Amino acid sequence: MTTETTQQAIDRLWAEIDRREDELIETVAELVKRPSPLGAEAEAQGYVAEHLANSGLAVEVWDPDEAIKTIPNAGDSGVPFAGRPNVAGVQEGSGGGRSLIVQGHIDVVSPEPVEAWSYDPWQATVVGDRMYGRGAFDMKSGDALNLVLPRLLRDLGIQLQGDLIIQSVIEEECTGNGALDAARRYPADAAVITEPTGGRFTHAHVGVVWFRIAVVGKSWHAMQAWQGVNAITSPASTLRRTNAVALPRECGSA
Ligand SMILES: [Zn+2]
Repeated sequence: MTTETTQQAIDRLWAEIDRREDELIETVAELVKRPSPLGAEAEAQGYVAEHLANSGLAVEVWDPDEAIKTIPNAGDSGVPFAGRPNVAGVQEGSGGGRSLIVQGHIDVVSPEPVEAWSYDPWQATVVGDRMYGRGAFDMKSGDALNLVLPRLLRDLGIQLQGDLIIQSVIEEECTGNGALDAARRYPADAAVITEPTGGRFTHAHVGVVWFRIAVVGKSWHAMQAWQGVNAITSPASTLRRTNAVALPRECGSA
């Protein structure tokens, strides 16, 4: 295949993706069936690590560094990192090329209220051309793609010049700490995050800042409410912003 052009390799890859669509969908389902809300990512990450290892990548599984939280403006979900690993798999390039991270987050938001679902959020039920499950879209669809990609490259004998680094990270829905930690541990020349964006490529993104505000009012008997200060409605209220970040268990939707 030494005479194959890049375009020919890309065409072969696309054709293989179409041919193995069922495998891709099955991989999404396998991920959805492993619930991974904040604090419970380990089982799904274990599946990711095994899948990457079976594709021949050098895999590392590690708990993120708690020191991440001391970086200015870093978030804190309030849940320690112990037992909540990030995963990275490296497919070494042949040399001379730029390295690429392909990354996805493994965490999903809470499925509550579960009674509002038409199907069990952890069963990955397929009806017609639609899969029902928490995280089937955001973003275990992208995670599955990230797993299948190196496998297809291997099976097709497509050798990249630069290192390909697959990362599966925790805590995207709340803080981004998992991605930050993985990028520091396995940096690369560029990164593609396979977050669903409606088929569009996005090269810049809004961020999220969590903060707590304390509003100070002045209590008064309701009979003379006008004598007090309504902390909610009064522009005269004293606003005090703190650095303490208290996140709800259910946070984020990215
Ligand atoms: Zn997402």
